[in-house]
Amino acid sequence: MGGSLRLARLWGIDIQVHWTFMLILVYGAFAFSVGRADPVTGALYGILVIILLFACVVLHELGHALTAKYFHVNVPYITLLPIGGVAQLERMPRRPWHEFLIAIAGPAVNFVLALILLPFAIFLLGMSMRAGELINVWDFFGWMLRRMQQPGLGNLVLYLTMTNILLGVFNLLPAFPMDGGRILRALLAMTLPYVRATRIAVFVGRAMAIFFALIGISQFNIFLLLIAFFVYVGGRGELEAVESRYVLKDFHARQALNRNVHQLYTSERVDRAVDLIMTSYQADFPVFDLSNNFVGVVTRPRLVQALRSGRPDQRIGEIMLPAKDIPVISPEMNLADVWDCMIENRSQVVAVKEMGRFLGLLTLEDMSEVIQVMGAAKEGEGEIRLSTPATHWTPAPTPETEAAVETRLDAQESDTQSEDRRLG
Ligand SMILES: [Zn+2]
Repeated sequence: MGGSLRLARLWGIDIQVHWTFMLILVYGAFAFSVGRADPVTGALYGILVIILLFACVVLHELGHALTAKYFHVNVPYITLLPIGGVAQLERMPRRPWHEFLIAIAGPAVNFVLALILLPFAIFLLGMSMRAGELINVWDFFGWMLRRMQQPGLGNLVLYLTMTNILLGVFNLLPAFPMDGGRILRALLAMTLPYVRATRIAVFVGRAMAIFFALIGISQFNIFLLLIAFFVYVGGRGELEAVESRYVLKDFHARQALNRNVHQLYTSERVDRAVDLIMTSYQADFPVFDLSNNFVGVVTRPRLVQALRSGRPDQRIGEIMLPAKDIPVISPEMNLADVWDCMIENRSQVVAVKEMGRFLGLLTLEDMSEVIQVMGAAKEGEGEIRLSTPATHWTPAPTPETEAAVETRLDAQESDTQSEDRRLG
C-alpha cells in the first residue's frame, strides 16, 4: 500500500502506518477537546487515547499474523488505517480449520486485553465512586459514558476495556472479509466446497455491509460507512480470487505453456525486442546465451523502461531480468499453485523447467487468460479438454544455431554503422 511509514518490525512483520492515519489523530484531538474548559489538555489526551486504542489494534492484528505464521503463512506487514488494521497474509490458509483459528485469534486478543484491564478499571474507578450514586443499570451506563469522555487514568483504563470488548464483538459480526465473516466461511467450508462457502459468506457480508451503511447514514457515522464500503468491495475481490483459483486448479503448467514463442539472445540489441513486440502477440521473451542456456526474461514493462532511458544501443543482456530472480516451477505444477508462487515471490513471470531443461515461461497474463476463458467454459458447464503435449517442447521450434545468431547480430551491427554514418 502506497504512502505508508514503517513504525517497527516485530517477528519479521513490518508494522506500518498509512498517512491517512493522521486524520484519526486529528479526529481524536478534536473529539476530546471540543466543549472543554481546557481544550489543549483534552486534545493531548485525545491523541493519547487514539494511540493506545491503535496499540490494541496492532495486538489484534498480531494475533492474526502470529497464528498465520504458525501455520506457515507468511505475513510481510500490518498496516494501520483510520478504520483499523490490516494484516497482509501472503496467501489464504489451505485448511478451513487454519483459517478459523487465524480469524478468531484477533478478537480473542481483544477479549483477553479487556479481561486484563477490567480489574484495573474497577480498582481505579471504584475509589472515586460514591456509595448510592448509581441506582440502576442505565445510570451505570450513563456514568461510564461520561467517565470515558473525560481525561483521567481510571477513565482511560475504562475506555480501553470497553473499546476492546467492542472491537472483539464488532469484528465477530459475519461481515466477510471481516473476522466474523472469515469464521463463517471457514465453518461452512468444513462441509461445503470452498467456492460455495465463500459465495455464501460474501452474500451474508453484503447484507451486513448494507446494514452498516444504513446505520452509518442515519447516525452520520463516517467510520461505519467506510467499513460498509470496505466489506462490500473487499468481499467481491476475495470472491473473484477464490473463483479464479478454482478455475486454475484444474490445469497444470504444461497445458498453459505458449508454443512457438520468439526468443532473444543476450547480445542482441533492444530494437529486436521492439520489433518482435510490434509484429507478434508476445509480450515477454525468454533470453538465451549463445550456448542456448536460459539466462533471463525481457518483459514489456522492462523494455519500456529501457526505451525511456533513451539508449537504443543497449543489449538484451543489460535490460533483462536475470534468471536467478525468476521462480522456477515444474510443468506438472497445478496452475493455482503457480499463481500462489507468483504472488509469494512478487514475480509476474515464472520459468517452467523439467530436469533442468527450460520449457517456457508463464506470466500473470497467461494466468488471467486461463481464468477468463476456462472460467467462462466452466460457467457454461461446457466440457473443454485441453491438450497436453506428450512430447517435450523446446523453447523455439527450430532453435537458431550459434552461427545463424551471429550472422543476424553482424547484420544488426552493420545496420547500426550505416545509421551512424547517416546521422554523422
Ligand atoms: Zn481482525
